[in-house]
Amino acid sequence: MENTHLDILKPDDWHVHLREGHILSQVLPFTYDNFGSALIMPNLDKPIENISLAEDYYAEICRHIPKEIKFTPHMTLYLTNCLTQDEIKKVSNHRYIKAIKMYPRGATTNSESGISNIAEFYPLFEAMEKNKVILSIHGEVTDEKVDVFEREKVFIERVLTKIINNFPNLRIVLEHITSADAVKFIEKHKNIGATITNHHLMVNRNIMLSKGIRPDFYCAPILKTEYDRLALVQAAISGSDKFFLGTDSAPHVNGKKISACGCAGIFSSPLAVPLLIQLFEKHNSLDTIEKFMSKNGRGFYGLEQQQDRVLYVKRSRSVNTIKNIKTDAGKITVFNPYNELYWERIN
Ligand SMILES: [Zn+2]
Repeated sequence: MENTHLDILKPDDWHVHLREGHILSQVLPFTYDNFGSALIMPNLDKPIENISLAEDYYAEICRHIPKEIKFTPHMTLYLTNCLTQDEIKKVSNHRYIKAIKMYPRGATTNSESGISNIAEFYPLFEAMEKNKVILSIHGEVTDEKVDVFEREKVFIERVLTKIINNFPNLRIVLEHITSADAVKFIEKHKNIGATITNHHLMVNRNIMLSKGIRPDFYCAPILKTEYDRLALVQAAISGSDKFFLGTDSAPHVNGKKISACGCAGIFSSPLAVPLLIQLFEKHNSLDTIEKFMSKNGRGFYGLEQQQDRVLYVKRSRSVNTIKNIKTDAGKITVFNPYNELYWERIN
């Protein structure tokens, strides 16, 4: 019989960019409405590179959450050479700072403070390993000699393998994986998990480039082939506790995306959950969606399971969906690659 109801533990988003100021206030409701918690990325104009800045940012986010809403922001620190071993020790006991995020310099929005020489950071990795602090990684090399579609693969070979060999007990999340190679690597190694985004599960580079360019699908790491997309879908629906949802929702106003030099980033929080339900349904895998969206991430981060539940129903006709949101700086397009979306939340 066809499934028309889905009652699951409230999902979490293990990778989201909320930005700051006015944009933060406009995009945050889509995260606290749809998710029980979220891991907030630290790449603001002034990177969140220490505990004090993370606490200020946490307070700013909390000011925009209405009292009746139950939502937990988990924070991250941006790995730079300002970080100390002492600070890492404090992170290990911190109530809401859950990971340290490593960006290769220049890999994405506001990553100019990212790292270029990995060996420099070994003492900090050692401190993270010892204090059981999770290292969250944007896994791409930024060497201009490396083709943009190969950057994740080369990062895994040249950088990630080194980190894992030197720090076998360091717990790592490889963020927004994009390729069959990454899936294989994660499956093969212990102490490493991965987030997967909606967009890498739903669109590929042909859709982005072959019938006219689609700036709304342009993201970092860039979309890969259909073969890669299918490998990601298999990983997500497999039920393996190594894979979990991180939307990497990353809002940019359309003026910045639809431009001669457009920004990478896709704003996906508003429809992330119903789109994923439709994808899992298409692959006859609604039985594993709760693991991917609500359980595996908490397991990896060592948190208790969520208590709240959400109920989605499948309508017989496609539902009206939000197309964009308006901000002071212009509209931001909402990611929705499906012509018709049938699932809708009713509680
Ligand atoms: Zn991101």
